[in-house]
Amino acid sequence: MLIFKKAADLQAWLNGERNTGKSIGFAPTMGALHDGHLDLVRMAKKECDRAVVSIFVNPTQFNDPKDLEKYPRTPEKDAALLIGVDCDVLFIPPVEEVYPPGLDLTVHLDFGQLDQVMEGEFRPGHFKGMATVVNRLLDIVQPHRLYMGQKDFQQLTIVRNMLAQLHSPVELVMCPTRREADGLAMSSRNVRLSPAMRAAAPVIYQTLVWAKETFPEQAATAVRASATARLSEAGLRPEYFDIVDGITLQPVERWQDSDFVVACTAAFAEEVRLIDNLIFKS
Ligand code: AMP
Repeated sequence: MLIFKKAADLQAWLNGERNTGKSIGFAPTMGALHDGHLDLVRMAKKECDRAVVSIFVNPTQFNDPKDLEKYPRTPEKDAALLIGVDCDVLFIPPVEEVYPPGLDLTVHLDFGQLDQVMEGEFRPGHFKGMATVVNRLLDIVQPHRLYMGQKDFQQLTIVRNMLAQLHSPVELVMCPTRREADGLAMSSRNVRLSPAMRAAAPVIYQTLVWAKETFPEQAATAVRASATARLSEAGLRPEYFDIVDGITLQPVERWQDSDFVVACTAAFAEEVRLIDNLIFKS
């Protein structure tokens, strides 16, 4: 596996690959890799000639400085895991390669309601930072396909909207959420859970599954109230549990109101913020 720290070096290598007709699959990450991340690489390897992974803990998408400071960083272990799945390239740039001093690369797109609801409400500025870094990384890598996880459903929806607004030729591929055996969605943040919270956290997935079974019979308002109560009773502090349309992210009150229904939730387990979602129908 090749490891690049400088954008220009990566671009020179990628130009050579593109010139010989190789297709490029790209998965941006913040490192502390787990099997969910590796699934993105596995899928990219299956569908493209070259798989490129970036590891960059993007400071502009953290609204909480403590969360940024505590974000796990395990670059050596990450490189070994990527070699294990036959990743071709790791791009692990310092901040000044992604954000060259004096250059304002901020994305100024209007995402309508997409970045205002759910995560957007509780993490102000998060999606602007996310869109900016994804756009910048796409500009550097210029992949044919972009691999992102369903785990961050709202993020993926906003990136899909950004690609459409920019008339980008990049094809966005959604990879299903990889879970632990007890249902907890894999996340780099899970290593920060206390033993008690690790034991409680699977209630998030259990509640999503319960809501999926219940929603056809009950209106969203009632499902939502019971779901947040379940999370609270298990010792978590839910921020939201929303049942939304999978394209507009606007609330869906009844099962028949949309063809693409997703439940999305965020909850604190002590000071660790966890998110998850489940597609009810699509
Ligand atoms: P992150 O490192 O958290 O920014 O995530 C990098 C990419 O991996 C994003 O596209 C995530 O949606 C995806 N991802 C994170 N966790 C999972 C998971 N459990 N299953 C599938 N994809 C995931």
